[in-house]
Amino acid sequence: MSDNSAQTQAWKALSGEHHLAPFSDYKQLKEKGPRIITKAQGVHLWDSEGQQILDGMAGLWCVALGYGREELVQAAAHQMRELPYYNLFFQTAHPPALELAKAITDVAPAGMSHVFFTGSGSEGNDTVLRLVRHYWALKGKPTKKTLISRVNGYHGSTVAGASLGGMTYMHEQGDLPIPGVVHIPQPYWFGEGGDMSPDEFGVWAAEQLEKKILEVGEDNVAAFIAEPIQGAGGVIIPPATYWPKIKEILARYEILFVADEVICGFGRTGEWFGSDYYGLAPDLMTIAKGLTSGYIPMGGVVVRDTLVQVIHDGGDFNHGFTYSGHPVAAAVGLENLRILREEKIIERVRSETAPYLQMRLRELADHPLVGEVRGLGMLGAIELVKHKSTRERYTGQGAGMLCRNFCFDNGLIMRAVGDTMIIAPPLVITHAEIDELVSKARKCLDLTLNALNG
Ligand code: PMP
Repeated sequence: MSDNSAQTQAWKALSGEHHLAPFSDYKQLKEKGPRIITKAQGVHLWDSEGQQILDGMAGLWCVALGYGREELVQAAAHQMRELPYYNLFFQTAHPPALELAKAITDVAPAGMSHVFFTGSGSEGNDTVLRLVRHYWALKGKPTKKTLISRVNGYHGSTVAGASLGGMTYMHEQGDLPIPGVVHIPQPYWFGEGGDMSPDEFGVWAAEQLEKKILEVGEDNVAAFIAEPIQGAGGVIIPPATYWPKIKEILARYEILFVADEVICGFGRTGEWFGSDYYGLAPDLMTIAKGLTSGYIPMGGVVVRDTLVQVIHDGGDFNHGFTYSGHPVAAAVGLENLRILREEKIIERVRSETAPYLQMRLRELADHPLVGEVRGLGMLGAIELVKHKSTRERYTGQGAGMLCRNFCFDNGLIMRAVGDTMIIAPPLVITHAEIDELVSKARKCLDLTLNALNG
């Protein structure tokens, strides 16, 4: 056994003996052990056996600038020497958090000039839940408590985050959702649109919001929360009619709109925020991931000025985290935003690399296993089906998982959500790397098809 293999086996043993991994099938993990990722550069990862892998998921949708950006390392090191930690509680602050709040609101939609910092997207959505209920209480409408969310939306894994999320497999563990969170159907035409056209289905899915507001009672509804594009649910790009209809409905009722921008934010759609792409005017935006390119944990909530006025007048807000606005994370966030702006990375996504990625990805639609290819910006989804015309699936054969494993073994990270393969590469991916991604994806689709029929 080579040194590499011996070391890999030792790490795998540690996994079984000492580590409880997030979102993992523990039985499978115990049998095979995890793949150990040891280093990364640009859009590529290397595992402990020396295999090079193209990271088609930017880690978990977060490594916007790609791996190995020395400026982010330097920003962290400098801040650690200067002031490695201080908090923002009890009438204190520090420069990185204040400057980052300003830098975020400089690129946020108009009229959103304040940020509450958290350590993650989940904590961001916990903050959203508390903030919107606090707001309505201050407005003299304390019954407005219910949050409306969507089935198969993802909003994190804390109690509030998982409750707001519409993942039934998460609700089943731990008695969720908590009271005061209700869900409406998602705008997933390929999976659930039946005989309706995408446009008809988009209107139908949006109308479910109005139906739910009326059912719960406007006086009891605090907010509607949604991702502009559902990420973890399977890169679900709503039909063109969906957001316009939702906007119409939101305008008729006195409820807040929260855009969960944890995935869509900071350039993934080719705009700063998914809300910009769809022309939404959120009252609150949850942010994380691309804010620091994932180099260090950080999240937050960007809040509309009209809400801030009420909250400012309300005195104490009894909420916060030890690491809210952590100075090292904030310094990395500032540097990350500087690079995004100065290197015009989002402009390049919009005008060059996203159009190329979307064109090349759609070539895969001719593959016999592929029922639909959809995508937008640096997001893509490939639906695996048995019959293209009827959208019938390979039930019970785990086509998505098979494909994901072939990808892993052939140097590509694509994620499987059921039988939907999804990608979200770093925003800095080049044309040549997009070619590599698409040709590896085609090879793995071939291997999957053979395995399913073999
Ligand atoms: N919201 C969305 C839309 C997400 O995709 C995620 C993470 N995938 C979260 C919230 C939760 O973020 P975190 O894992 O940082 O808590």
